[in-house]
Amino acid sequence: MNEVMVKRNELLAEKVIEGLISRNMTGYYAKDKEEALKIALNIIPEKSVISMGGAMSVREIGLVDALKNGDYDFIDRDNYEDKRQAMLKAYDADFFLASANAITDDGVIVNIDGNANRVSAIAQGPKKVLFIVGINKVCFDIDSAMKRARNVAAPINAQRFGLSTPCSKTGTCMNCKSPDTICCQFLITRFSRHADRIHVILVNDNLGF
Ligand code: SF4
Repeated sequence: MNEVMVKRNELLAEKVIEGLISRNMTGYYAKDKEEALKIALNIIPEKSVISMGGAMSVREIGLVDALKNGDYDFIDRDNYEDKRQAMLKAYDADFFLASANAITDDGVIVNIDGNANRVSAIAQGPKKVLFIVGINKVCFDIDSAMKRARNVAAPINAQRFGLSTPCSKTGTCMNCKSPDTICCQFLITRFSRHADRIHVILVNDNLGF
């Protein structure tokens, strides 16, 4: 990435972080994936109980591998035959790891969900929530954040999971009520009632969808 882009992204991240602070959340800027991993591991103490939704960005910075190989109690849904049990355990975790479908430049976080395990854990339950968010997810108002979630993130996720939704064929949202829709619940996180609960690492890289 050239210097001009880096400078612009640093300035944008500064603005997002100011917005997060004004909303009782904590923001960090990571210049690349390696730095994001270091910051995340500084935030999460060893022996913590950790759960997550299906967040590609968390995997992309190497955090899942680091937690599985370290001294952490990582709730790996893939190891649970009873997925509901894993989801219920997640609500009592020390940390829930997530990405965002979009974040506004003034710090509002937007997520959509089919099963709602992810958005419900973000909203309440786990003691802390740690978001890993690529700079590509920053939008300039709620409207554009919702459009990003429905026209970029959702169609890609629908294709990824082999779902039979209109967007998996057209690449954009058709506002469907398909049985397979992943747009069942929308969560707009505009303020955290609890200080020190929501932490966001903004990464100067394209992460996730
Ligand atoms: S509402 Fe339907 S078509 Fe639109 S993004 Fe969601 S799943 Fe796709």
